[in-house]
Amino acid sequence: MNPFYNPIFLSKILNKYLFDINRLKNFNEKELNNFRDKALRNIVRYAYTVPLYHDKYKKAGVHPSYINKIKDIEKLPVITKEDIKKYYPNGIISSKTKKEKLLEISTSGTTGKKLEIYQDMYDVVQWFFNHIRVLREHEINWRKDRLTIIADLAPHTIESGFIMRGLLGNLNSSFFRNMQWLNTNNKPDELIKEINHFKPDFLGGYTGMLGHLALLKEQGYGEKINPKVIASTGGVLDKNLRKLIEEVFNAPIFELYSTTETGIIAFQCRNGHYHVMSDLVHLEILKEDKPADSKEPGKLIITKLYGNGTPIIRYNAINDIVAPLYEKPDCDIIGDLIDRVYGRDDLALYFSNGRILLPSSISEIYSRVLYELKTTILKDTKIIQNNMNNIDIELVFDEKQKESSLNFEKVFSVIKKGFEEKVGSDVDIRIKKVDKIHRKMSRIVTKINKKNFEIKQYI
Ligand SMILES: [Zn+2]
Repeated sequence: MNPFYNPIFLSKILNKYLFDINRLKNFNEKELNNFRDKALRNIVRYAYTVPLYHDKYKKAGVHPSYINKIKDIEKLPVITKEDIKKYYPNGIISSKTKKEKLLEISTSGTTGKKLEIYQDMYDVVQWFFNHIRVLREHEINWRKDRLTIIADLAPHTIESGFIMRGLLGNLNSSFFRNMQWLNTNNKPDELIKEINHFKPDFLGGYTGMLGHLALLKEQGYGEKINPKVIASTGGVLDKNLRKLIEEVFNAPIFELYSTTETGIIAFQCRNGHYHVMSDLVHLEILKEDKPADSKEPGKLIITKLYGNGTPIIRYNAINDIVAPLYEKPDCDIIGDLIDRVYGRDDLALYFSNGRILLPSSISEIYSRVLYELKTTILKDTKIIQNNMNNIDIELVFDEKQKESSLNFEKVFSVIKKGFEEKVGSDVDIRIKKVDKIHRKMSRIVTKINKKNFEIKQYI
């Protein structure tokens, strides 16, 4: 039976709706801690019915009864991508859960390695509520305001799973009349026409797409697109790109940090703090297996504190480098804070003296083409690092814009200059134009042996 037509399920949703969304404002610190402790106990007990976790915990000699408080989480072994792959499909869900009630979701294949996990209808609802929480913080009414969401609606992504198969597939679509769902895989010049027609109060999308749209608007397209606020996700918003988007749309932009496995991890409030969804996820940010200091980049190990699909507990496969912030914010949202998301460390480049260049810094370099040359001609790119002093960069240009007066050499020189400023001029950077890059391959490849590399500095 479709769970959305089940009255018990619906009443549970409504109960959740009334309180859960404002939990980080309604709770005090003590209530939040108690809530988190209890959520962890429940999820660990549940995970013990999932073969993958059962086996791992048995082998490590831990039992759910050892876990009482969040700090006990360190007693549990970490889980890797390989663990999930090894136990997929039946070993990553509870024997108590019927598989028909679950949605199979693929994690993003940015490195070419896909991973399948299961989530259920509560995850769908929670995912939706988490977005409403963030919208509310930015004074957007999800029932009344007009929302444009540019999502990745390729098959098997979390968005297409949740929206097309989950929510829109189940609820009467008139329920979502004030929402415009667009596919980020479509062309920016087509999207801007649709958005212009819809006239949204809120615009949410991937960082790169928002940059494209800002440039198009600056060129005179999309004059009716005047949102009150913009949300950026899936990429790093450096300060120049942020400035461009905010100026062109004349609206503030905030960032959402989320992953397929866990949903929203953190969001920026209207004061710009980066708040962790501490009632729903627990973050461990480790440097050499010890908690990182405030503002110090470390590796993220994540635990999702709810759900009936594949449990995500001490999951060491997001591969993100994140810096925590141990400060008390001057706003009414409680829970943890992060300082910055640096991006994935399995997509990094390595240089002399322990210097490492993460995707966040690489995208800073590429976004200069957008705001310095005011062009969206750059369609795709691949970086191959041969050794610490030699990088090959391949660029794909938009053939349609070939006629434009812009010459490729200018793009080459902006990128080359950007890299040189980061890594020094002793690194040889060779750039060439190619016709295409295979989508399944990783965009950033390094031949440096990371095992012998001691990280000293993120550049
Ligand atoms: Zn805040």
